Amino acid sequence: MRQGIHGIGVRLGRQATVRSLLIVSLRTLDGKVFGEPDAFAWVQGWQIGRGRLLRRTYRDARFALLLECGLCHGEGTGGGAGTGCSLCDGTGRLDRLRPAERP
Ligand SMILES: [Zn+2]
Repeated sequence: MRQGIHGIGVRLGRQATVRSLLIVSLRTLDGKVFGEPDAFAWVQGWQIGRGRLLRRTYRDARFALLLECGLCHGEGTGGGAGTGCSLCDGTGRLDRLRPAERP
């Protein structure tokens, strides 16, 4: 006769066991494939998107500081033939932290 509880076991069916092994294997592969790029992105201060397994998106947060020039609509041209836009100096974008200098 058994006395006391010596452990708690969880029995998985064959299908659940195969699924669990597959998930663990894919997560291990995910870590090996993206380990180096993730480390590089982390050092650079980039945002790392891990929405799905075996998929990453990397984004430099500084891009959120840029916006399209309203004068040239991002083209960088205008103000005459062969000259760049006077507001954005021909870049087509403005930096929110550095407002355009006006003479
Ligand atoms: Zn412009």
